[in-house]
Amino acid sequence: MDIYKALVDIVGEEFVSRNEEELYIYSRDSGLTEREKPDFVVMPGSAEEVQKIVLLANKYKIPLIPVGASLTLSGLAVPIRKGIVVDLRRMDRIIEVNRLGRYAVIEPGVTQGKLKAFLERNYPDLCHSMPDAPPSATVVGNILIHGQGNLSQLYGFNSTMVTGLEIVLPTGKICRIGSCSLSPYWFAVEPLPYLAGIFLGWFGTTGIITKLGLRLYPRKRLRDIEVFVLDDPEKVADVVYRITHTEMAEDVITMEQPYPMMFRDVVLVQIYFNGDSEEEIEFKRKMLWNSVMNYIRSRDGGFMFLTPDVQEDFLEKPASSVTRFADVMKGGGFVYCGAIIPVEKFAEALRKLKEIAKRHEITYGHVGRIVGRGHCMMFSFSFPFNRADRASMERAKEALHESYLATLELGGIPWKPELFAQKMILERMDKNAAELMKQIRGLLDPNGIMNPGNWEVEP
Ligand SMILES: Cc1cc2nc3c(=O)[nH]c(=O)nc-3n(C[C@H](O)[C@H](O)[C@H](O)COP(=O)(O)OP(=O)(O)OC[C@H]3O[C@@H](n4cnc5c(N)ncnc54)[C@H](O)[C@@H]3O)c2cc1C
Repeated sequence: MDIYKALVDIVGEEFVSRNEEELYIYSRDSGLTEREKPDFVVMPGSAEEVQKIVLLANKYKIPLIPVGASLTLSGLAVPIRKGIVVDLRRMDRIIEVNRLGRYAVIEPGVTQGKLKAFLERNYPDLCHSMPDAPPSATVVGNILIHGQGNLSQLYGFNSTMVTGLEIVLPTGKICRIGSCSLSPYWFAVEPLPYLAGIFLGWFGTTGIITKLGLRLYPRKRLRDIEVFVLDDPEKVADVVYRITHTEMAEDVITMEQPYPMMFRDVVLVQIYFNGDSEEEIEFKRKMLWNSVMNYIRSRDGGFMFLTPDVQEDFLEKPASSVTRFADVMKGGGFVYCGAIIPVEKFAEALRKLKEIAKRHEITYGHVGRIVGRGHCMMFSFSFPFNRADRASMERAKEALHESYLATLELGGIPWKPELFAQKMILERMDKNAAELMKQIRGLLDPNGIMNPGNWEVEP
């Protein structure tokens, strides 16, 4: 009762809940992780309210779980030790866009869809790097898990696009890092010591982000796609190398899945490019075609003819086709292990994905995104399941487990890992690095209240 009353005093009765139905909503995400209901859900409206909630949680040593849209599918915002879920979606102001400096300052509840629509309406020559997650996913949630979007091939992980942060630290202090810590401008976190690293990739265990500075990029008037098709996965890494060498592509996506049948056993390399004029588009198309001409001549690969409706499908942003395979088993669920791997491991990863799917008698899907100029890629091992069929869910879970192991064997790193995969990572990583992570958490969060369970498995 004390905690409930205190939360009502902070945010008002309308924005606190301990109602069973609402607690249920926050006990799960759309993946296959364990469920646990929180004790309370609270929706703060400002950084000061977040601060008061953090101070309260410290007083009672009760867990706090910051939540955006909870769409990671790996349970990273599930309150596994109960406590207070802090749903940040009410804080959804786009505070500033600095057009000439190409950055925006936003609150943590701003969704991908909201930022995209706002920029298209008010700053049509600017855009941000958009993941293929549903538009209701938050920009901050995506940054905090090192997400990747349509500009990642050009500029790297979305988390490298951060220009400043405001954080409520686990002890309740409000802290700004980057240029905004000493200037009204939010243009960069450099050249100061790189404190942003203490918050990115930590799944909310080191503080609650209440403002984010984010780089924006030129939005070109036209966007087009070419799809290169190969039947030998061993050649994909070289094809990607040649394509990225042209520096003409905006986004490069790999895809392989057994459905529809026409895609079976061929790899599609989707190459997105853009321009402000037809001339620019045609120039880029020519450069991209030329880069893989030797494969076309040797008949090892070729460009696919796209009818206008198929092309429209491919050009959709975010791409809804990413999840379409999830209904292969009727029942609409899917899980995936996003493996961050060197591109040269593509063929081996695909082989492992197929072996795992076969062993567990389950179908699969693969979508990958090149990050940087081929510096690495996100390779998804994806498995659909039917929510009404327990056995299919178990099979997907086992296949997922094996995919995490396969990722590590490939020399890769599981992205946004579930708790058991976080354990696998911490057990295998350099012991002193794991110890350093533990020390950082202990230093920032002496009461261990922030999203407990995550990144805290004993090294
Ligand atoms: C169909 C589908 C397609 C997807 N495609 C992509 C893709 O192309 N690229 C990609 O990168 N991802 C993709 N994802 C994964 C994921 O959904 C997105 O990355 C999404 O942006 C995560 O945002 P969220 O708001 O759901 O974050 P949440 O799940 O709510 O949060 C993520 C983590 O950050 C913490 N957190 C959230 N907000 C805060 C805050 N303000 N302060 C501190 N901690 C916080 C949470 O506790 C959690 O640990 C996809 C997911 C689906 C379902």
